[in-house]
Amino acid sequence: MSRMASCIFCKIIKGEIPSMKVFESEKTFAFLDINPLSAGHALVIPKHHGAKLTDIPDDSLTELLPVAKKIALATGAEQFNILQNNGRMAHQLVDHVHIHMIPKPNETEGLGIQWPQQ
Ligand code: 5GP
Repeated sequence: MSRMASCIFCKIIKGEIPSMKVFESEKTFAFLDINPLSAGHALVIPKHHGAKLTDIPDDSLTELLPVAKKIALATGAEQFNILQNNGRMAHQLVDHVHIHMIPKPNETEGLGIQWPQQ
């Protein structure tokens, strides 16, 4: 089986594994992390399969950060982390490029999440 055929994030893109989708376009897909570090923790991924950032063509990368920004705005979080891991030593567990968008909810007000239109 090819790496792409066995990739869990490719299966999520195809709908073969269920996910909480929050955004989709021709080249980009975003969904909630199954093991969130905070409410609204989302993963933004290129539909093009590749393990590391360096494996992905530029035209499949350009939308990732704007979509992460859109999701950050939708969560209502004023503070958040954006991170992207490459390789085991960098704590990458899933070998399909993904950007984490991790909101830091206001402790007293929480989040007013309104996911972007798809
Ligand atoms: P990494 O350590 O590779 O940067 O992060 C991988 C992330 O993917 C983790 O936060 C993990 O919870 C998430 N993840 C792994 N498998 C699944 C899955 O099947 N569905 C969803 N929604 N998230 C997943």
